[in-house]
Amino acid sequence: MGRRLIDTAGLPDGWVTWEGPQWLEHFDRASTNGRRQSYIFDFTATPKVRAHADGSIDNDGRLRLVSDTGCPECGRPVVALFRRWHDEDRERIREDLAKRMRELGWHERHHRKLAAESRP
Ligand SMILES: [Zn+2]
Repeated sequence: MGRRLIDTAGLPDGWVTWEGPQWLEHFDRASTNGRRQSYIFDFTATPKVRAHADGSIDNDGRLRLVSDTGCPECGRPVVALFRRWHDEDRERIREDLAKRMRELGWHERHHRKLAAESRP
């Protein structure tokens, strides 16, 4: 199965192996023109960043790894990195991620890729 990269625009090479501090630095860099809140990855192409069992990556709760949500249209699993700029709670994080996936045309994009690959 191919890797599906949808929400990785602006990420430099090497993000797959970044740990928490590198992601936090990147979110700061990416937030000079409006705050960058999340990156969303299909479950076939996820970053290797380590998180605690509750999903927190850093000890201050600024960055979370979210792995209990999916495509708002079909439920295909995703993994997201979420930068909590305003102490967003889990409910809010799920809402914001669903909103971003709708804005990105997430379902349309991963669905079309899958359909194209399954042609003979
Ligand atoms: Zn979908």
